[in-house]
Amino acid sequence: MNILVTGGAGYIGSHCVKMLLNEGHEVTVIDNLSTGYKQAVDVRANFYNEDIMNSESVIDILQSNNIESVIHFAAFSLVGESMKEPLKYYYNNVYGTQKLLEALISVGVKNIIFSSTAAVYGEQTVMPITEDTLETPTNTYGETKLAMEKMMKWADKAHGIKYIALRYFNVAGAFHTGEIGEAHNPETHLIPLILQVPNNQREHINIFGTDYETRDGTCVRDYIHIEDLINAHILAMNHLKETNISDYFNLGSGEGYSVLEMIQAARKVTNHPIKAIESERRSGDPAELIASSEKAQRILKWKRVHTNIEDIISSAWRYHNINKEGYND
Ligand code: UDP
Repeated sequence: MNILVTGGAGYIGSHCVKMLLNEGHEVTVIDNLSTGYKQAVDVRANFYNEDIMNSESVIDILQSNNIESVIHFAAFSLVGESMKEPLKYYYNNVYGTQKLLEALISVGVKNIIFSSTAAVYGEQTVMPITEDTLETPTNTYGETKLAMEKMMKWADKAHGIKYIALRYFNVAGAFHTGEIGEAHNPETHLIPLILQVPNNQREHINIFGTDYETRDGTCVRDYIHIEDLINAHILAMNHLKETNISDYFNLGSGEGYSVLEMIQAARKVTNHPIKAIESERRSGDPAELIASSEKAQRILKWKRVHTNIEDIISSAWRYHNINKEGYND
């Protein structure tokens, strides 16, 4: 199939591009490189350094590459930043998606898979979170993703755009070869930050809050391996083609690990004492997020391969060991 991946130079997008190519698809990438890296994009893809807001170019790219399906990752995704600069998030995520949908409608591309987030659920007390849980985002990032989902719903009703929204929990790990992985600048995510300690790039890891109502007082999250996550996108894309039914799914492991447990697992994987310092809570962090992915398993026939947290951290460690400085281009 001829597939357009927006945001294909980012952490999740670049893994999607590589895995689609490995399955024999023709892949076109649009990325403005505002947060992504050209180096992360597989050389077999048709790469355009372009902004999804630039309708004329997007329409041209859709037509000249005979695009049949779109996987839309291009968005800002930092919770903390979204609280400080909410309008930047509305512009890029919501208006950017609007512009993309307008372009798709104008050339008749009807299928889109896109990245949503567990942040649409906000603070919940009942775990695991299912797709029936009421969406009550507590940060701008989650709010913009929910707005994108709703925009798709109405675009479906009016224009027959069919979509599948995938609500990710904490995505982790790297491609099994170690060629590409999770690298952000600045880095804010737990696993890459923990691994900077054994890589001698950081003296210690901060534990953001030790007074949460969880088993050890630190935040609990549900970590899902990047390759399992991308497999769900491929299944979703095929499912949408077959059924033509819009839908949304959680993607997580169903298991929760605390920050302390993650540090402990990383100590085991790296064989390094990894110094940890207790610090203040980070604003906007829910105590616990654990997914039920029963719906994706049932309807998409999705099955995780990477079920062991130490294996997931090992795959991240392999990448960070080979690429200590991340990407440089
Ligand atoms: N976290 C931490 N120290 C850090 C970075 C993150 O304790 O240096 C915690 C954070 O508060 C959250 C968990 O680790 O509870 C996962 O954070 P991350 O930013 O990786 O993902 P998020 O859950 O925000 O999507």
